[in-house]
Amino acid sequence: MPNTSNIKTRKTLDIIQPYSPGKPIWEVQKELGLDRVIKMASNENPLGPSPKAVRAIQESLADLNRYPDADASVLRQAIAEQYKVEKQQVITTNGADELITLISEAFLEQGDEIIVPSPSFSEYDFGAHIMGAVVKPVPFDEGFQYNIDKLIQAVTDKTKIVYICSPNNPTGTYISKGQMENLLAKLKDVLVVFDGAYSQFADEEDYTDGLEFVNAGHPVIVLQTFSKIYGIAGVRIGFGIASEEIIKSILKVKEPFNVNTLAQIAAAAAITDTEHVEASFNANIKGRDFLYNSFDKLGLTYTETTANFILVQVGSNGEDIYRQLMAQGIIVRYGKTWGLPEYIRVTIGTEEENDLFVTALTEILTPLA
Ligand SMILES: *Cc1c(COP(=O)(O)O)cnc(C)c1O
Repeated sequence: MPNTSNIKTRKTLDIIQPYSPGKPIWEVQKELGLDRVIKMASNENPLGPSPKAVRAIQESLADLNRYPDADASVLRQAIAEQYKVEKQQVITTNGADELITLISEAFLEQGDEIIVPSPSFSEYDFGAHIMGAVVKPVPFDEGFQYNIDKLIQAVTDKTKIVYICSPNNPTGTYISKGQMENLLAKLKDVLVVFDGAYSQFADEEDYTDGLEFVNAGHPVIVLQTFSKIYGIAGVRIGFGIASEEIIKSILKVKEPFNVNTLAQIAAAAAITDTEHVEASFNANIKGRDFLYNSFDKLGLTYTETTANFILVQVGSNGEDIYRQLMAQGIIVRYGKTWGLPEYIRVTIGTEEENDLFVTALTEILTPLA
């Protein structure tokens, strides 16, 4: 009998956990036989994609026999103009997820260490693990606040990268400008990956999107995505901004055609769609305040968010509440993946979605009401 079981993978694959995405709508519909399913689990834009991006895609379909532009020249120029940097400081990738992998491939040797505030986005760990590098998690303080001293204390000779996700997924908390200055003042020859996937939602006065530190010459790379406020998660497009040297190193490990034509075209249109971005921002603030209010009424503790999702403490029967919401066709994220079994993370939805979610949650928590 032929068999494949003696084909050995690299050892480092043994510690890789499969990514657990939010369940897709069709799957829940099928599994539970439900017509109406709403997804508040992946921090997508509930208003839909940028209409400008959709139009741009429709107009470009006839050219799909051609390979994409390997340099994504038009898009990188558009990004450079929007963020007031040089085009050579921009790399575009198949989602910010790919950029995390490319950064890992470019900078991590086996045995190197990365520092990751915990809990945060799981792709940072994934990138380290595929390279045989070691993840040093540093827990957040009370209320999931950044503690810079603790991050600094975790640094060793082997530290190559410190990840800062701000606003942080899944907590919604952020690093202040002052904290970032403090961190950079104390690090030496360590790359800081500043993941700003949700930065367009943050409007706190002491918030930084990280760019000023790139511009000041620090070894910082800012990660960005078109999957969140721009609403085009389905075409997969993200980008990074850093010094030209850092970008050059990452380009060495990039596949030539990593960003497909539709993604390039859609993103170049979406970045100019200020109307859609503003509408999305405003809807998010309104939805956030409605949800805060509803959680207050239900006596639930939540972490104030600077993003488009809220981490809510629902109690020791968190998994049961998650399942009951699912049974009613409402997909949220259960906190156990982040070691937070008493929590759920809910993406702020449309007014209707937020209403349905609150109604369902209220019924679950107060069955006799
Ligand atoms: C969603 C997300 C990303 C990027 O996602 P892509 O769809 O791969 O661009 C990056 N970082 C965080 C923290 C996210 O939540």
